[in-house]
Amino acid sequence: MIVFLSGGTGTPKMVRGMREVLPDEEITVIVNTAEDLWIPGGFLSPDIDTLLYLFAGSLNTDTWWGIKGDSCHTHQELLRLGVDEYITVGDRDRAIHIARGEMLRKGLTLTEATLALGRALGVKARILPMTDSPVATMVRAGGREIHFQEYWVRHRGRIGIDEVIRRWEVPPRATPEVLSSLREARGVIIGPSNPISSILPILECEGVRQALRNVPVVAVSPFIGDSPISGPAAALMRARGYSPDSAGTCEVYAGLVDYFIQDIRDPFPVDGSIRADTLMDRPRIAADLASLSLTLLSKGRTRDR
Ligand code: GDP
Repeated sequence: MIVFLSGGTGTPKMVRGMREVLPDEEITVIVNTAEDLWIPGGFLSPDIDTLLYLFAGSLNTDTWWGIKGDSCHTHQELLRLGVDEYITVGDRDRAIHIARGEMLRKGLTLTEATLALGRALGVKARILPMTDSPVATMVRAGGREIHFQEYWVRHRGRIGIDEVIRRWEVPPRATPEVLSSLREARGVIIGPSNPISSILPILECEGVRQALRNVPVVAVSPFIGDSPISGPAAALMRARGYSPDSAGTCEVYAGLVDYFIQDIRDPFPVDGSIRADTLMDRPRIAADLASLSLTLLSKGRTRDR
């Protein structure tokens, strides 16, 4: 079993490549849930949805969120009725959120709900929320604390941020399913996701760092030079005191990684990194990156214990 730690864009692109190389049954994805939100009618788990749709074959890979060809009638009608739904939710996409919301209201855990939705959609891979208790990534901007989704979707990341804060009522713990998948994994891939808003929330779940000590780990940088390929990673890295580049990414993952892959175009080399084409605008490149990661993982651990 190969296990990915994932957000909702960069790592799913690599997971798509891995599907060319391994059967879905041999892929587990541990997914960030710190961007989850209750929305009108249901519960939105954006990163989990991207992976469910990817494995179900229905993902809109132009945006890397939502279902391809989906309509937005309910969203438009809600806006007309004065509901402040700042996230565009498709109609079929909303059905998943409603189904998930119903399951949670009936007392299922997010893990149980995710596995049930996966079965209903014919997903053969294991998609696991990092934790079953609520966690939220918030940003402090101009003296106000707002949810990450509000920062990124409503404000399109155009406001300056001073701090990234994780909020919860009980400290998040990795689920038993997450811990057993890490124990049984032949390798873990920290995909090229946003280190601060997608990967750190997973690493912050109690038990994850410890579990990563015994398994080979590959990480892929989401940066080329001082820019991410997409999204607000640079602003978030700066707000947490890291340089917004591959070196900063390496620092976030210090002590956890055996092999660090950096793009061949990156002008800022990181000592000991492996260079590869990581710009996954074509599925072939993602498949090559996935194969390279498997080769590295098969060499085993190189870190000191
Ligand atoms: P989010 O949940 O939508 O924020 O998605 P992720 O955290 O999974 O992914 C966002 C990160 O993916 C950004 O920091 C991008 O730089 C990175 N990314 C997107 N596409 C690519 C790609 O083709 N190659 C690499 N190396 N990184 C990518």
